[in-house]
Amino acid sequence: MGIQLNSQPFCRWCGIAIRKRTETTYFGRRSTEITRYSTTRIEKPASLADAQCLVNRKIVSNTRSMDRTYVDKVTTWDGETYEDELFCSLKCEAALGRFVAKHHGWSTNEYRQAKEKGKSND
Ligand SMILES: [Zn+2]
Repeated sequence: MGIQLNSQPFCRWCGIAIRKRTETTYFGRRSTEITRYSTTRIEKPASLADAQCLVNRKIVSNTRSMDRTYVDKVTTWDGETYEDELFCSLKCEAALGRFVAKHHGWSTNEYRQAKEKGKSND
């Protein structure tokens, strides 16, 4: 899914640039197939410009075939979709959660209600 944004998001915990949500297209394959994560095509584009004409998204990286005669793989981006708006990984998401709970006393209503209930059961 990803999130569409106008500018590069950075991880709220570690500060690294959050990844673009990309798709991969493989060229020079036996058939054209589109799956959720990649597309295969039969064309063998000789140049990056030729490959760009075959995909309607911005090419962000590419590789050439073993014999170097055509572009065999491109990674494309729609120009606005990132993996997440706040965090680069679940590890960073958990780290910030732990940090604010421990050092800033942050909690949810569910936690406060459970704690109140726990007190009245004593
Ligand atoms: Zn991070």
